[in-house]
Amino acid sequence: MFESMPSLPADPILGLTVACRADTNPNKVDLGVGVYKNEAGVTPVLKAVKQAEAQYDASEASKAYLPAQGTEGFLAQVNDLVFGEGHSAVAAGRVATIQGTGGCGSLRVAAELIKRANSHAKIWISDPSWPNHASLLGSSGLDLAFYPYYDRDQQAIAFDQMMAALANTGPGDVVLVHACCHNPSGADLTTEQWQQLTDLALARGFTPFIDMAYQGFGDGLAIDAQGIRYMADKLPEVVVANSFSKNFGLYRERVGTISIVAQTASQADVVKGQMLNVARAIYSMPPSHGAAIVETILSNPELKSMWLSELDEMRDRILHLRQSLVKAIANTGCERDFSFIERQKGMFSFVGITPSQVEELKTAYSIYMVDSSRINICGLSSSNVAYVADAIASVVS
Ligand code: PMP
Repeated sequence: MFESMPSLPADPILGLTVACRADTNPNKVDLGVGVYKNEAGVTPVLKAVKQAEAQYDASEASKAYLPAQGTEGFLAQVNDLVFGEGHSAVAAGRVATIQGTGGCGSLRVAAELIKRANSHAKIWISDPSWPNHASLLGSSGLDLAFYPYYDRDQQAIAFDQMMAALANTGPGDVVLVHACCHNPSGADLTTEQWQQLTDLALARGFTPFIDMAYQGFGDGLAIDAQGIRYMADKLPEVVVANSFSKNFGLYRERVGTISIVAQTASQADVVKGQMLNVARAIYSMPPSHGAAIVETILSNPELKSMWLSELDEMRDRILHLRQSLVKAIANTGCERDFSFIERQKGMFSFVGITPSQVEELKTAYSIYMVDSSRINICGLSSSNVAYVADAIASVVS
């Protein structure tokens, strides 16, 4: 049966990591794969997570299945974190939230749900976007379309073009938006742009689908979720996929959530039943460990404040690295302006160089990044930022 299957090329980003690992240059720098790294180049287990694990392991009394939607304690904490405490849509019972398996699993369940609700729905994805969006959503059989998002000449959001493209949508269209820390561009919507997009959703009747994979990595927990909170307040329906991989450092535990904001509480109940039915046919029951750790941290004031300060530390490190890179490039005397990197948010930005310059950075300096010139800012450190800045300045001049 499998004889005739063609073999597939390796994932380009994972291929970069493999190539970097094999490189013997002691100055090599991996700016490829998208995980947070500390100054030592390590993706740490957060202290709050370690303590919560110790507490939880000591008290865990059973390995029987979790409730299919996750525990009530976890879901209540998640609704507060994502929507903000006391959000009107949550209070009105309009929000159906279930546990998902990481951001990816949550996106996929949401896509299957949309397909069930409207098999002709078309999902609009930003151009560019995280490549797995098209795979996760397209695999459900939904039609995909793309709206312009990033202006590579201006190194900023192409907001007017985005709005013009989305003016062609209607009911039955779903528009996928990154809540914050846009991957790959780092260019985020402002408060005013969220409001304009909300007005357009009301006018055209499309349903926003917000993917939040980096809450807390951009401007803080509340601002990073501002689009979700505003849209959930103003619009009849919103789809949210949320991940705890980055902000809790729980990547391999696969914990996330799917929230559907429905028009009424009774519609939210119906949608919840449908979502659980979708999940049942894919993985049946969610894993316990990651969600238990998130719940333990969020419901214990001491652990929560420890987590918040670790999250601040991660955000501050990213911001500091962005500033250091811009300064170090300017210090080389390079004439090109890279200050946009300082204004962008989260782990990623495009350096804005050509694929052949990306290749030169790899071959001449052992600096690894994807062909689009997207870099993971966390691959920088105080010890390599000047090296990377010199290399970038030399390939662009
Ligand atoms: N959405 C975006 C925009 C992402 O960048 C990622 C992770 N790279 C995810 C979703 C999924 O995250 P995970 O499945 O690891 O939780």
